[in-house]
This record gives sequence, C-alpha cells and structure tokens, in this order.
Amino acid sequence: MIPLATRSSEESRLYLELQTCPQCGAPALEVTAHWLADEDGALLSCYESRCEQCATTADFEFTVAGEPPAPPQFGGPEPSQLIDAGQFLTVARDLAAAVPADPARCPADERADAREAMVIAVAALSEVRKFLPADAHEVPQSAFFTPSGRAVYSADPAQFTRRRLTALDNGYRQILTAYET
Ligand SMILES: [Zn+2]
Repeated sequence: MIPLATRSSEESRLYLELQTCPQCGAPALEVTAHWLADEDGALLSCYESRCEQCATTADFEFTVAGEPPAPPQFGGPEPSQLIDAGQFLTVARDLAAAVPADPARCPADERADAREAMVIAVAALSEVRKFLPADAHEVPQSAFFTPSGRAVYSADPAQFTRRRLTALDNGYRQILTAYET
C-alpha cells in the first residue's frame, strides 16, 4: 500500500468521509480503528474503516507532509493532494446550506453547532482557493482529480472563477461574523 500524503488529521478524516466502499460503493465508511506506525523512521497514520452497509473493512495509510496546521485548517498554503477543488467546494456548500444565514432564525441550542459548521465551511472554501495560481482568474483543470470533483466542475465551471469564490468567501465570513457577535 502506498501511503497517501496528508497535511493534517482533519484532512485524513475528511478524505475518509468522502470515500466509498470498495465492495458495494456505499458512501458509508465508518472509522473503526486509528493507530500510528513507524515505517523505517517515517510516521504513518493508519485507519481501519468498516462499511455501514456491507461490513467490508478497508485500511488506509497516510504520511503527514510537513508541519500540521492549526485547526480548523486542513493544511498549509499548498493545495491538497487528497481532496480536490470540487470536493472541497461541495463540503463547504453542504455545511453552509444547513446554517440559517440569520442567527436569529437559528434555535439557541443549535447556534454553537451552526457557528462550528461555518468555521469549517470557511476552511474548506479556503482550500478551493489554494488551487488558484496567484495570477489566475479561475481554478485550473488540474485541481479536479477525482470523478466527483470533476462532476462538480462540469456542472458549472464558472463557480470556480476567482470572482465567484471571493464573493462566496465574503458571504460565508459575514454569516460567521453574525454568529460570533
Ligand atoms: Zn460496502
């Protein structure tokens, strides 16, 4: 097994959440064990998962590249090698979609969770922006390296322009600020 290059345990966990079962294809892998291994001096972060639908188990091995970032960041300034721009945008959107934009419409006992969801949505969206070269107006094709990420891109390529991503980021940060005051 070739270990996957991860930037943080947050990134490893999200990667596992995005995987489907190698046996039945269900997107329902549950992490059943996590351990660290030393392979010739390199630290490996290992996970065992179990499919909630057919009970097939699968193992994943990660090597941590560089210094892990402070949570909730998934990694440093370099783009992910595991999760592509389309997947990160979907993660951000799914999280933000469950949060009422106006905190007054969010039940008091759900506000902390809503705020946390927006924090992670902002972090996931910042990962999409890391695929933007400094002088580029849009995320390049090479940033879509999974079938699901490519499908998100094909559905609406314009959502990956710098302009749209910046506008979305501003919108998310406004919602987050509203939950922090
Ligand atoms: Zn399965």
